[in-house]
Amino acid sequence: MKFAKPSNEPSRSYCVGSAERKLLKEAIKKIESEVAEIPLVINGEMVFTGDKGKVVMPHDHAHVLAVYHKAGAKDMRRAVEAANGAHKSWGTVPWTERAAIVLKIAELIDKKYRYILDAATMMGQSKTAWQAEIEAASETIDYLRYGAHCMTEIYSEQPSSEEGVINHIEYRPLEGFVYAVSPFNFTAIAANLPMAPVMMGNTVVWKPATTSLLSSWYLMKIFMEAGVPAGVLNFMPGPGSVGSGVVLASKELAGIHFTGSTQVFNSFWKGVADNLSLYRSYPRIVGETGGKDFVFIHNSADIKAAAAAILRGAFEYQGQKCSATSRAYVPASRWDELYAEFKSMMAEVKVGDPRDFRNFVNAVIDESSFDNCMEYLNYAKSAHDAEILFGGAGDKSVGYFVQPTIIKTTDPRFRTMEEEIFGPIVTLYVYDDDKYEETLKLCNETSPYGLTGSVFCTEREALAKADDILRYAAGNFYINDKTTGASVGLQPFGGSRGSGTNDKAGSKFNLMRWCSPRTVKENL
Ligand code: GLU
Repeated sequence: MKFAKPSNEPSRSYCVGSAERKLLKEAIKKIESEVAEIPLVINGEMVFTGDKGKVVMPHDHAHVLAVYHKAGAKDMRRAVEAANGAHKSWGTVPWTERAAIVLKIAELIDKKYRYILDAATMMGQSKTAWQAEIEAASETIDYLRYGAHCMTEIYSEQPSSEEGVINHIEYRPLEGFVYAVSPFNFTAIAANLPMAPVMMGNTVVWKPATTSLLSSWYLMKIFMEAGVPAGVLNFMPGPGSVGSGVVLASKELAGIHFTGSTQVFNSFWKGVADNLSLYRSYPRIVGETGGKDFVFIHNSADIKAAAAAILRGAFEYQGQKCSATSRAYVPASRWDELYAEFKSMMAEVKVGDPRDFRNFVNAVIDESSFDNCMEYLNYAKSAHDAEILFGGAGDKSVGYFVQPTIIKTTDPRFRTMEEEIFGPIVTLYVYDDDKYEETLKLCNETSPYGLTGSVFCTEREALAKADDILRYAAGNFYINDKTTGASVGLQPFGGSRGSGTNDKAGSKFNLMRWCSPRTVKENL
């Protein structure tokens, strides 16, 4: 059985007057008119703990979208038991049957739940229709279909046999369960973090981010409808500290699949180190954290393209992508031109509620994210070596709106050039054209991260220099393109240094982390 390499799922444009726009608007109405109740799911059963939290619209925070039940330590222990209980049966299901379930999920999203999943992402995570569609629907489908194709490749790769000897590799799932901890910013990542280990025959305890629970709950219901068996995937919203404490102290912990903050990822490494003697196997720790992603402009660049890339990379989804452009290097000889492009483009950028489809920038995810952005903006305002060229203000009275902001600094190590903010704020540094190489070195050394970066340049020799100096500065390196928007199967995603373990989400490399191969030699 083979699953051929799929093409990427085309995204709906939701253009004015289209039938799909009407369907999306109906789905938004449905989401607005309900308050969903979100339980835990342990061993296929819904559990209502009574300890409740709220999910609100970030752009209209008085509007409660859902009430969720929080998992306590006791519930987490039950989830671990359920995952352990289902390990044997799921791990021996033929991979083709698992792939059939994976493809069923993709089909359900494509044909039945596309609009509601996009609407839940728009309302719960404050995304434009387009930003929701390219990931909640299209990228999730890509992860699943491409995953089924990768399974074909992985399971069919076998060593040669010899005269009188059969050699064989059995791609066993890990011996134990996997803990998946998903972030708020991408519904597709929330789908992929638990599903990648599930595809490979593992059982999972999944802790979704509480701010984006509405879309995660839709995903969980779709997974169950497609036939993911009881116990294989246990859905555990709630405070991370409680859940992680129980999981990290479980003997059967075999892996962690994570996207989120550096701080939480580091706490997992420490937790694993503290419990090392307890585990049966060394847990696989696979994670993606932050970025301080750059655009570097050479003086041969197409400036209009570079300006558009900076603005899209910095402001789409309010800069809340790990891949978002948050610093840029501009040659002095091209500064005036770039500034003029910014001026005309920024005049078109509208900020507001995603229900008004003309808005390009919506709200940041919650109050602490808003306050964090404001702190950086106030810092930049009071600094003598920086000026705010566009934006710089925020308003949280109705929703958590931060104006898209461009800061210009004369200090290449200014705080906002170095630290990840995770908001719609980009900082520019203008360099002398004859200090190209020196500034590339500076760019390489300025942040502890290594996720995405791009160089705008049309001269081969200058490009080769950038390529060499920035070799480890980005796991996803773009030439004449923006730093965001990697596609599954085309640009496998991930970075090293402080950005994570670079196990390339949505690729064979990542899926291989969820199996423990056994080599069998049989003499005939
Ligand atoms: N894969 C996404 C992109 O290329 C970013 C994912 C993330 O923010 O973690 O834009």
